[in-house]
Amino acid sequence: MTQARIALVTGGLGGLGTAICRALAEAGRKVVAVDVAAPEERVAGFRTALNGFEAHIETADVADFDACAALVRKVEDEHGALDILVNNAGITRDSTLRKMEPAQWQAVIDVNLSSAFNLCRHALDGMQARGFGRIVNISSVSGQTGNFGQTNYAAAKAGLHGFSMSLARETATKGVTVNSISPGYIETPMTLAMPEAVREKTRASIPVGRLGQPRDIARAVAFLTADDAGYITGANIPVNGGLYMAY
Ligand code: NAD
Repeated sequence: MTQARIALVTGGLGGLGTAICRALAEAGRKVVAVDVAAPEERVAGFRTALNGFEAHIETADVADFDACAALVRKVEDEHGALDILVNNAGITRDSTLRKMEPAQWQAVIDVNLSSAFNLCRHALDGMQARGFGRIVNISSVSGQTGNFGQTNYAAAKAGLHGFSMSLARETATKGVTVNSISPGYIETPMTLAMPEAVREKTRASIPVGRLGQPRDIARAVAFLTADDAGYITGANIPVNGGLYMAY
């Protein structure tokens, strides 16, 4: 039997991250969920959501370049070569630009965008040497359309598209694909934090007529990271219920 491919999912204990871990475990991957902290109650919720599927948990701050180096080394030492990387960790610090503090700007850029550099930089050599890699960066519809109060977040998420397309070109002949996914509004703690009136208005604007579920994103990740998905690279897959259509 060939060894299961190893998948690292950042923000792995979060709403989308948990669903992504489960989908990859269901697809037969050996999953490592990484999060900035792993308090007991979140780990318990994660295990319940995995419903019997296995995943290892590591803690690291993906905004920290050296911590990402140590994380990749640890995962490869303990579990084996890293084949699949899902850069999913993200935060919002919403504010109109006129009121935005430099710390709000920087934190969002560091966690949502620099993290992809930090991890790809350390994971890529091995992937290229082995001739196989699947990288998926979780962006956002906000990075395609912009969003009121989200200059920081939209800039980081739009940045991920440029990052993904450029890295896809650099790795295309090496068996490594790099793609992004742009979720619309998905029911997770991030969107549950929106006031109910705003959520209702949002729901009304989505052609499919509902917010997305984390598994809607997870199945797109499983699709892009499949062994036979090698001809899809530099692409962005919108998973938004028709909220934003463009070609
Ligand atoms: P979430 O808040 O449930 O999960 C995010 C996870 O990232 C959390 O577990 C958090 O602890 C972790 N994290 C934060 N900072 C970190 C750090 N420095 N290092 C490591 N981990 C860190 O949010 P979510 O809704 O699951 O979002 C997942 C991704 O999807 C994010 O990148 C988000 O921007 C994106 N997204 C979400 C939606 C949505 O509607 N929920 C829409 C578009 C894009």
